[in-house]
Amino acid sequence: MTAPTDISGVRLIIDLAALTRNWKRLCDFAPRAETAAVVKADAYGLGLTEVVPALLETGCRSFFVADPSEALAVRLLSPQSRVFVLGGLTAGCAGLLREQRLIPVLNSTEDVAVWREAAKDEASPLPAALQVDTGMNRLGLTMDEAQALTKEPSLLANIRLELVMSHLACADQPANPMTGEQRARFEAVRALFPGVPASLANSAGILQNAALGFDLTRPGIALYGGEAIEGAMGPMEVVVTAQARIVQLRDVKKGERIGYGATHECDRDSRIAIAAIGYGDGYHRIASGSGVPLRRLFPGAHGHVAGERVPLVGRISMDLAAFDISAVPAKYVKQGDWIEIFGENVALDDVARAAGTIGYELLTALSRRAERHYLPVKTRTH
Ligand SMILES: *Cc1c(COP(=O)(O)O)cnc(C)c1O
Repeated sequence: MTAPTDISGVRLIIDLAALTRNWKRLCDFAPRAETAAVVKADAYGLGLTEVVPALLETGCRSFFVADPSEALAVRLLSPQSRVFVLGGLTAGCAGLLREQRLIPVLNSTEDVAVWREAAKDEASPLPAALQVDTGMNRLGLTMDEAQALTKEPSLLANIRLELVMSHLACADQPANPMTGEQRARFEAVRALFPGVPASLANSAGILQNAALGFDLTRPGIALYGGEAIEGAMGPMEVVVTAQARIVQLRDVKKGERIGYGATHECDRDSRIAIAAIGYGDGYHRIASGSGVPLRRLFPGAHGHVAGERVPLVGRISMDLAAFDISAVPAKYVKQGDWIEIFGENVALDDVARAAGTIGYELLTALSRRAERHYLPVKTRTH
């Protein structure tokens, strides 16, 4: 017996060809820089084991992850590429990173000391990236600490700096003056390490201003088809489509109520589709049509079926959500059909906004319960 497919309530269609086209577009935005890829959090929830080979096939050679465990996963998929560990040197991991040729991002003078110690008996210098904080106050050495390193070269003994980097706090808001301030500080940092490639831009930085590209860019969300700059997809293509199975259709009379808490009352006779998606799949309960705290602060979520935009009504349950499909002629929707939760017709970031969050969180919250279909980079002939 062949295993039946599409037996999950939720189906994710992940278009790896669109992902690689997005990567190439990002290359074009910063033509003088190397374009890396940020694949932390299981490639923003899309699946590291599919995303990394697709990017390798397209020419990507440098990857960024959050911690050593993710770095090891990339190393298994790609023996040759550069893998940078953004979270620095987790206690006790220096030996592992050295052995697997993984590159720590040194975020503090303590990190520098640990890596120096790991490097001291090596025949050739160990690679590292150095992160300097330019105003975000998250990770990185202070400007003064970076300067101290240049005054005392023995502090970097047997360490080969592959990158000097910093991270932008406000690049998603093009009018925010903070980006210009960070760029000016970064220019000063870069001047301290002549000859070392420099990296500042995340997706929003790349799309906003070519001058932020420097020698290497670090896109994440734009690769995956999320909004990098607030309210704008730019030239990026949709990569992920989420669909939920309609498991029941019902006619609900005017005045009747729907869902837990009976929070939605139909103001007319309505046709309701019950779809097999809920907060157990990462469809945040706060995106419910009604009956959740703070609901009125956000626009309501909606789905898309048979060419119509259909509003979510009542509370989202763990596995189910109700959509008012009264606008769709009955003959166009039947039990078993799929309703689009986000994709070409419903923007990922609109659903995120309905949940008071961002596309990043929606993608990384998608559960493993969904069945995943990957569209290949190239259509292969068998
Ligand atoms: C996550 C991350 C990125 C990618 O950011 P996007 O906004 O997804 O493009 C780049 N650099 C650092 C340091 C990060 O932590």
